[in-house]
Amino acid sequence: MTAESNRPLASRNGRRAGWWLAASLLACLVGAGAAMASADCAAYAACYDVVISPDLREVLVETRLPEGGKVRIPGGVRPDTISDCTGERMRMTAVDVRPPGGCLRIEASLVPSPLAAPGRRMDRFVSPDDWLPRPEVAGERHLRLRPPPGMDVFVPWRRIGEHAYRIPPSPRSGRTLIDFGSFATRQLVAGDATLTLWVLDATLDADRLAAWLLPAVHSVATVGGRFPSPHVQLVAQRGHDAGSPFDASPVPFGHVMRNGGEVVRFFVDPEATAQQLGADWTAAHELSHLLLPYVHDREKWISEGFASYYQNLLMARQGQYSALEMWQRLTRSFAAAGGIASSATPGNAYRHPFWDVRLLVYWSGAAMALMADVELRARAGGTQSLDSVLGALEACCLPSTRVWTGESLFAQLDALAGGAPVFMPLYHKVSDTPGMPDTSVLLRDLGVIGSGGDARLDDSAALADIRRSLTRVD
Ligand SMILES: [Zn+2]
Repeated sequence: MTAESNRPLASRNGRRAGWWLAASLLACLVGAGAAMASADCAAYAACYDVVISPDLREVLVETRLPEGGKVRIPGGVRPDTISDCTGERMRMTAVDVRPPGGCLRIEASLVPSPLAAPGRRMDRFVSPDDWLPRPEVAGERHLRLRPPPGMDVFVPWRRIGEHAYRIPPSPRSGRTLIDFGSFATRQLVAGDATLTLWVLDATLDADRLAAWLLPAVHSVATVGGRFPSPHVQLVAQRGHDAGSPFDASPVPFGHVMRNGGEVVRFFVDPEATAQQLGADWTAAHELSHLLLPYVHDREKWISEGFASYYQNLLMARQGQYSALEMWQRLTRSFAAAGGIASSATPGNAYRHPFWDVRLLVYWSGAAMALMADVELRARAGGTQSLDSVLGALEACCLPSTRVWTGESLFAQLDALAGGAPVFMPLYHKVSDTPGMPDTSVLLRDLGVIGSGGDARLDDSAALADIRRSLTRVD
């Protein structure tokens, strides 16, 4: 956080008056051209008009609610900047307010997000969670946001017109990020889904990034027959700044954000070649997260595990890994996770320091995914697999607007698979047993002999056909 961001609004009072006038004029212009009739607004849980100051330091938000509606004022808003929509200051006694006439104005500083990458212009990356009042009633919200002249804006919400967005209900899985600047975009098409790639830094080559991401998007789409979410946005930003805590790989970091709409963000080394990017598993991993709904933070081992499993399968299916290399990587990771000095179970790993149990968090769920996949393939004579069950999950339940638990997810997967439960017994066993699940017999039956760089494949093993089917693209 910079000193700049802590500077109190009051110290800029003189300049603020001028900006208010400009903002009000702009709001009027926006209103004259495209204001939603209040009847239209009634269809939403809230409607916002957002004006950003040209210097990107302040934001003015007008919030309208259905009759009698209540909102929560975000922590980043100073009480003395809140007024009703006649301009009358409101006396605040609580964070939840019922504004007179269902209309409220706030003014806030555009505080940089703690998630902003080191070395970026901190004042460009902001989180609406700091200044967008949240209605008490859940539901779709409508927002109009006009970026400063000459600037693009990246937001996670669904665009429905010029400067107009729908904010769908979504799991609150972290902070929402928006960014202003001059961005390159590319469209990545996979069947019915069109993913927009936003390249936030001019030092990154948008065509190279699109060429890197497209095969990963397609391979995730082959799992269940379509891409699991039709409205995902991809964001790429520079990942190698001086003093960056990230490691020196082509894609040092990536993550999925679901708050306000699904966004997958990648930090990329601008120097990375197409070949280096192709060999990197981050895209396969992050996009695989979308195969599952958002599972509660305390059960990270499920989402990280399934994504880590698919990251390896998809890299092999894309031809980036040979089947042998994939098994060497998987078994090396299983062995490393099995060797950690901790009494943690996957289910209680959230109570331990993350750094101590991270390998368990990433690979216990991957082992469970492998066990479930093999069991499904074995019992159904090849007509069923983890792919097909996740395809059924996509059809019934994705993208999902709520937070799932392990229990609700695996009950749903068992119901979709039919027959005797596969997931729930594995889930309870893996979740409650300290350390990594024992995969030694399973791997032997699959014909994976040895582990890590020494692993080799035995085609005479009982389940060798199933092992081959895992990496095959049908
Ligand atoms: Zn992950």
